[in-house]
Amino acid sequence: MTSQDLKNKADAVMMQTYARFPVVLVKGKGCDVWDMEGRVYKDFIAGIAVCNLGHAHPVVSEALQKQAGSLWHVSNLYYTIPQTALAEWLTGHSFADRVFFCNSGAEANEAAIKLCRKYFHDRGEKERFRVISMTQSFHGRTMAALSATGQDKIKQGFDPVLDGFDFVAFDDMDALKQKMASSTAAVMLEPVQGEGGVRCPSPDYLKTVRNICDDNGTLLVFDEIQTGMGRTGKLFAYEHFGIVPDVMTLAKALGNGLPIGAMLAREEVASAFSPGSHATTFGGTPIVTSAALAVVKTMEVEKIVTHAAQMGAYFTNKLKSLQEKHAVIEDVRGYGLLIGMELNINGDAVVKACLAEGFLINCIQDAILRFAPPLIIEKTDIDMLVDCLDNVLKETAN
Ligand SMILES: *Cc1c(COP(=O)(O)O)cnc(C)c1O
Repeated sequence: MTSQDLKNKADAVMMQTYARFPVVLVKGKGCDVWDMEGRVYKDFIAGIAVCNLGHAHPVVSEALQKQAGSLWHVSNLYYTIPQTALAEWLTGHSFADRVFFCNSGAEANEAAIKLCRKYFHDRGEKERFRVISMTQSFHGRTMAALSATGQDKIKQGFDPVLDGFDFVAFDDMDALKQKMASSTAAVMLEPVQGEGGVRCPSPDYLKTVRNICDDNGTLLVFDEIQTGMGRTGKLFAYEHFGIVPDVMTLAKALGNGLPIGAMLAREEVASAFSPGSHATTFGGTPIVTSAALAVVKTMEVEKIVTHAAQMGAYFTNKLKSLQEKHAVIEDVRGYGLLIGMELNINGDAVVKACLAEGFLINCIQDAILRFAPPLIIEKTDIDMLVDCLDNVLKETAN
C-alpha cells in the first residue's frame, strides 16, 4: 500500500474534521518521525506540545510495557498505586492540594468550570456562576469548553452555546476590572495563549489579574494544558509570574502522548467536590498514570525543564536574527519552547515548504508559525530548522 492509497482510504471513512498534510507517519524516535516511504522529519510541533520527551522515550515505553502486562483499568471505584503516585507528584510540585484525573484538555476545563460553580453553589451564592475568559483564548471543543473559548470560528454553527461566559481582551487589566461582577465565579485564562497565536502577557498583567480576583472573591483558573509540564521553561507557566492560581488544568504533555488530563486545585476549592459530584470512567487509569509517572520522573532525572529554558532562549535568539534578515517576519515571541513567529503573509506556504524539506512546523491564526518541539531538542536540530526557514523565507519573499 502506498501513502496515496492510505490517504484515499482515510478520506473516504474519516469524518472530515481535519485538513491533513499528505503524509502518513508510521514511526517516531526522539525528535524524528518517519513516513511510509521512509522519509525522516524533524518534529517541531511534537503532536501540538504533547510529546515533550520526544517519541518512544525508552523509559516511558518500558514503564508502559511493564504496566501493560499487569493492570490496565479497574475504574475509580478502587485505589491504584500509579494514580496515587502521580497525584502526589503533581501536588508536590505545584500550588495544588488535590487532583482530578480525566482524559483530555477539554474535560479538564469542564471539570474546572463545574468545580468553580459548585464552590459558590455550596456557599449559598447560587447566582454566582459566570466565568470571564479572554478573547483569542482556546479551552477545547466540548460544549462548556467551547463556550469558554474566545474565538468565533470555534463556536460557528453550534449555537446556542452555554450561558454564563463573558469575554474581555487578553492583557487588558481595565477591561477585566470593568467586567467583574458579583455573579463572576471565576476568571479563566491561559497564562500564555497557545492556539490564539502564542500571545504573551505584559509583565504585570497576571499579577494584576490575581489581585482583581482577590478583591472580588473570584477564583482564578489557569488553563496550562499547553503551557504546563515544562513547555515554557518552568514546570508550570504561572511560576514565571510570581503568583499562583486557585485551579489549574493540565493535559497535552502530561502523558507524552497517552491521553490524560488533570484538574488541580487548592484544598478549600477542591473540597467543593464530594463523592458523586463528578466522575469519569477512564480518568487516571493505572495504564495511563503509570506512563505519566514515568514522564514526570524522567523530566526530573534528565533536567528537562532547565534544558527547555536553555533551548528556548537559543531558539528564540536564532529566530530573532532571522527577523533582522526577513521583512516578512513581524514578531518573534514566546516562553521557553513555546515560540510564535508572526509573519505579514499567510504562513501555509512556509509550512508546506518546510514539510518538503523534512520539518514539521505549524501555523496558527493564518500568519503565526508556532514552534513547540520536544523539550529534548538540541541546538543542532534548531540550527537545521533555522537554516531551512532562512531558505524558505528567501524564496517566499521572491
Ligand atoms: C489543546 C488545548 C485544550 C484542549 O485540549 P484537548 O485535549 O484537545 O481537549 C484546551 N486548552 C488549551 C490551552 C489547549 O492548548
